[in-house]
This record gives sequence, C-alpha cells and structure tokens, in this order.
Amino acid sequence: QKRDPDETEYLQYVSVVTRSLTPLLMKDLKYVEALERLIEPERVFTFRVAWVDDNDIKHINRGYRVQFSSSIGPYKGGIRFDPKMNLSIMKSLAFEQTMKNSLTALPMGGAMGGADFDPKGKSDNEVKNFCHAFMSELYKIVGPNCDIPGPDINVGTREIGYMYGMYRKLTSQTNGALTGKRYNWGGSRVRTEATGYGLVYFLEYMLHDNNIPLDGRRITISGSGPVAQFAVEKLIERGAIPLTMSDSDGFIYARNGITLDLLKKIMYLKNVERGRLEELSQIVEYHGNKQRPWVVPCEIALPCAYHNEIQRKDALNLIQNGCIAVAEGSNISSAPEALKLFKQYNLLYAPGKAANAGGVAISGLEMSQNSIKLKMDPQDIKMGLKGIIYNIFEACRTAAQQFGDNDFDYSSGANIAAFLKLANCLFDEGII
Ligand code: NDP
Repeated sequence: QKRDPDETEYLQYVSVVTRSLTPLLMKDLKYVEALERLIEPERVFTFRVAWVDDNDIKHINRGYRVQFSSSIGPYKGGIRFDPKMNLSIMKSLAFEQTMKNSLTALPMGGAMGGADFDPKGKSDNEVKNFCHAFMSELYKIVGPNCDIPGPDINVGTREIGYMYGMYRKLTSQTNGALTGKRYNWGGSRVRTEATGYGLVYFLEYMLHDNNIPLDGRRITISGSGPVAQFAVEKLIERGAIPLTMSDSDGFIYARNGITLDLLKKIMYLKNVERGRLEELSQIVEYHGNKQRPWVVPCEIALPCAYHNEIQRKDALNLIQNGCIAVAEGSNISSAPEALKLFKQYNLLYAPGKAANAGGVAISGLEMSQNSIKLKMDPQDIKMGLKGIIYNIFEACRTAAQQFGDNDFDYSSGANIAAFLKLANCLFDEGII
C-alpha cells in the first residue's frame, strides 16, 4: 500500500485474497511472510509500441508484461488489448493468473501482459502492424522456457498468428513460444473451447455438490467471445437454458433459450464478420445502450466478458430475481461489494481462478505438445480437461473444508489451495 498507493484495483484485489487467507495466516506467521513476498511481482516491464495506421499516421501505445511468479514453472498468462489498461489492472490479472495456474497442478508460473491499444474500428492491416510492433519488443523477454503468452480480451487466433510470425522472424525459433496458435502451426485441439467448456464442468460439479441439477436451469451469460460462445454450446448440450449473450454495446435475450442455430449465427457474426450483436435485432430481442444482462431473471449467472463486470447493483438485481449461483468465466468478474452480497445471501459462487482455468490448462498441454513435437488426440485432451477441472474443484472443496472456519465457500478454498502451493515453493527455495 505504501509503495503503490494509487494502484486501486491491485490493492483491492490483494485485500480480497488476503481476507480469504486469514484462517491460514492466523495459523502460522510464516504464511504472512510468504504472502508479503508473493504480492510483489518478480518483474514488471513497460515498453513503447510504435506503429503506423492505414493513413500513414504514427501512433504510440504502451505495452506491458507483468512476470508475476515463476516458482512453479515458466511465466504463463494472456495478452490483452484494451484502451483502459493500466499497470494496476495488469498486476491484479497477473496475480489472479498465478493463483489459477497453481490450481491447475501443471508446471506454470503466472504472468499477464498487453497494451492500451483499441482494436475496435481498426483494419486487419492495422491490427497486423500493431501486433508486429508489439512483438518486436516483447520477444526480448518471452520464450518457451521463460514466459509463454496466450490469448485474452481482443487477442485471439488472428492476433496470436501475427505475433507468432514476428517472433519467428526475430528469433529464428519455431518453439511455440505463444499458446492459442491455430492447429496447423502448433496449436492444440480444444484450446478455443476449453475455457467455456471447463466453466460449465466446474459449474456442474459445484451444483452436484449441492444436489442441484443443471438440466432445465435458466442461465444468463455475458460476453460473446470464445469463452461465452463455448459455455453456451456446452450448456445447450447439458439441457440448460442459456438466455443472454452480450457485447460492450448491449445484450441479446432469447426468452425461450439460445438455440444451436442462433448460436451458430452469433459465432459467424463475431468470429468471421467481426460484427456487433445489434445486427441480430431482427431475429432476437436486443437491448442496447450498453445495458448488461444482469437485469434478466435467472437461476444462474455466468459472467464471461470483463473484470468487475458484476457491480453491487448487478448483484442485487441477480439476488432479487432469484439467482442461486454465479460462476465466473471472465477474470475477477465480480467487484468486492458484489462478492459481499453473494456471501450474505448464500449464493453458490465459483471464482474465475478456478472455474475458468480450462483455457490455461489446455495451453499447458499445448506447451507440452510443442516441446515433444507431437500432437495429442482430441478425445484425450477433452478427457484431460474434465480431469483437471475436477481436480481443481476437489482442491477448492477440500481446502475450504479444512480451513473454512465453519464458513464454507469455494472461493476461499480456491485462494487457500492456490496460495499454499506457491508458499510451499517459496519455503523449499529458501524464500528467495
Ligand atoms: P473476447 O475479447 O473474445 O470477448 C470479450 C467479450 O467481452 C466481448 O463480447 C466484448 O464485447 C465484451 N466486453 C469487453 N469489454 C467490455 C466492457 N467494458 N463491458 C462489457 N462487455 C465488454 O475475450 P474472451 O472470450 O477470450 O474472454 C472473455 C473473458 O474471459 C475475459 O475477461 C478473459 O480475461 C477471460 N478469460 C479468457 C480465457 C480464454 O481462454 N480466452 C481464459 C480465462 C479467462 P466487445 O466485442 O464489444 O468488446
């Protein structure tokens, strides 16, 4: 706090995590020491990204890479392009990623990076120019044994392709130093689907643990990127009723449930045409003016868009409308005031670091496939994903039971399980 008093988001994030670690910190002061170490990122980079648009106008953006912890393995985490990006948000996301990667039980440390670049309204050529310029700095600090970036908001296969192309050109290496690559050039099957599918698996385990079936449940979803798309696909397969999807302009509301046919149209619009949901207003109810789907009555909510997207008033809406469970597809989806309400009203709550870990888990498998230069069978990857999510769920449940102070919740369980592993690494290494 003394060192970075202006980093509001980061301080807020650290205080939420610290609160849920309290039973552990009270038990043994050595954990306080480990936490003090951990909350200071190992390395933080900012760099200039200079690029030229289609009208030959020069632009400068700021690039970031927060290499948070390499205790468990090489730094690993997404790249996000977002004009609202700042170091405080980056550090929060990097800490969250470190905890998430610890939960996967795969050998991955944690990182996060990106730039304050807004890809909206940019031509394909401009996005390419930007990605090339971004990688012409980033390549100095990443690599398969050091730091392996992957996709996040506004960074998908197209952007990963442009960045990987520049990485290869600059390093003459074909070692797969980025994940989220297309299958033909080093990617893994099931990577694009993994976060959304994994989210629904985690939700199912949590509901099952509380004797609640998923079948027939009315579910609101935010976002319309790959995480939301594949969560909706899996929900339909499981007999649940996904009601909404959104983008930053508004949301669609299919009162009888989003069908596979409608989902296909949404995927085409978003993945191929790069269009806006409003363009579907002829075929499905649309609510514009930046409204969010949390006003729609539902039993379960799956935020899959943006950090802090569920604010206090959204949480109140959800609770008043009968919501019983929230599972986070996006990272740090719920603001601290929303979390307090979830707890006060006994909602089942699956935190993103556990529920959306499917994507990075398959990225871990992509790294292994690149290392041994072999492709895994898609069925094995799907089974692997389910197994990893189950193990994460069990780790959260067990830690919550062990340390929960009669106050059982999966979120504290996730924080304690993730932190214990990181702290024990620090002790084994002599807290360096
Ligand atoms: P995309 O960038 O493809 O999609 C993000 C979605 O969120 C879009 O629909 C976007 O709308 C919407 N959105 C962005 N900013 C805002 C905002 N300020 N208010 C409302 N809506 C907004 O990302 P992904 O689907 O890949 O990721 C979604 C979330 O899941 C992110 O938070 C990401 O960190 C998290 N996540 C992703 C993983 C992955 O494997 N991709 C892994 C784990 C977590 P618009 O098009 O208008 O910008």
